[in-house]
Amino acid sequence: MKVALQLAEQGSGQTSPNPLVGAVVVKNGQIIGMGAHLKAGEPHAEVHAVRMAGSQAEDSTVYVTLEPCSHHGKTPPCADLLISSKVKRVVVAAEDPNPLVAGRGMKKLQAAGIEVVSGVLKNEAEELNKVFFHYIQTKRPFVTLKWACSLDGKTATVTGESKWITGESARKDVHKYRELHDAILAGVETVIKDDPSLTCRLENPKKQPVRIVLDTHLRTPETAGLVNDGHSPVWIITGSEVSPERIESFQRKNAVIIQMNTPDIEIDNLLHLLGERNITSLFVEGGAAVHGSFIKSGLFNQVVSYTAPMLIGGKEAPPAVAGAGFSRINEAIRLRIKETEILGDDLKIVCVKKEG
Ligand code: NDP
Ligand code: ZN
Repeated sequence: MKVALQLAEQGSGQTSPNPLVGAVVVKNGQIIGMGAHLKAGEPHAEVHAVRMAGSQAEDSTVYVTLEPCSHHGKTPPCADLLISSKVKRVVVAAEDPNPLVAGRGMKKLQAAGIEVVSGVLKNEAEELNKVFFHYIQTKRPFVTLKWACSLDGKTATVTGESKWITGESARKDVHKYRELHDAILAGVETVIKDDPSLTCRLENPKKQPVRIVLDTHLRTPETAGLVNDGHSPVWIITGSEVSPERIESFQRKNAVIIQMNTPDIEIDNLLHLLGERNITSLFVEGGAAVHGSFIKSGLFNQVVSYTAPMLIGGKEAPPAVAGAGFSRINEAIRLRIKETEILGDDLKIVCVKKEG
């Protein structure tokens, strides 16, 4: 199962909206087939692994990181394939939370006389597919909030200077997150002040995420780099009160304008809308006002903070998070530190919700 999990992980950042899945076929103590799901629409892990095993698959044990599917999606059900290949035993790490499968894959195998064992390295398998599990269960993307700040929590000086607070290796790490997420989001003030490109600038990125701007009144400058560079799709989210003429001039530049049916952009509605558009994971890069809204809504899954050992000070210097905040300590959102890492001179901290 460990090998199957390692195989699954190789598909990170390229299977969305599908899960990461690995499969290993074992007979007489030898691996006779291996496979991973690599892209939505392409064969599932079990198909690659069983094909590799060929006629040897009969009487074998198949280790698979996620319950085999039982429904006809873009490809035929893997449960049927395992049955027709006459495998003896199927060992599953995690059950598929997809309501179309949810236990049915395993039942189908059992009904055909195959021995099924479930829950082997379950925690590892659920961690690997935390984005998929969250998305299937809530229909909203898995949300990561990210910021880079000084030790005193500032993201710029009083005059607005912010380049660079963190070093090169922290900045490179950010690009790895960009590659893994389906979309990156920023507020219109960040777009106006910094003109960021919001692309993944690793050497050979597996994909470029969709770039999303929260912009109630469509104030994004028509000259903004991300509107004109054509590197990856740009979705500008607006409130309900924007003039059709203004919208048209952006559409001519191939920007997708998505109008909410409320005057303001509410985070809950926004996340549902993005979920409907197959955005399974969202990387929120600020600024402070946008982070404040996400925190207030409670609709986020993890925070990645890069802290530089630097003191900026200044009451008016922008903090990592603004917005209204919470008035009582017992309302504040308590997180659990999941990971810490020193990157160059900086400290990276990954926090998740207490229950997460
Ligand atoms: P933001 O970039 O957070 O943009 C805020 C604007 O987004 C709002 O004024 C609002 O404008 C629009 N918006 C639309 N819907 C929402 C919503 N639901 N919640 C919040 N905002 C919404 O602005 P800030 O001024 O806080 O931050 C900008 C600064 O932050 C920049 O100078 C940038 O350099 C810095 N920054 C630093 C980062 C770091 O990690 N160090 C990362 C990113 C930015 P409207 O009402 O017109 O729609
Ligand atoms: Zn399948």
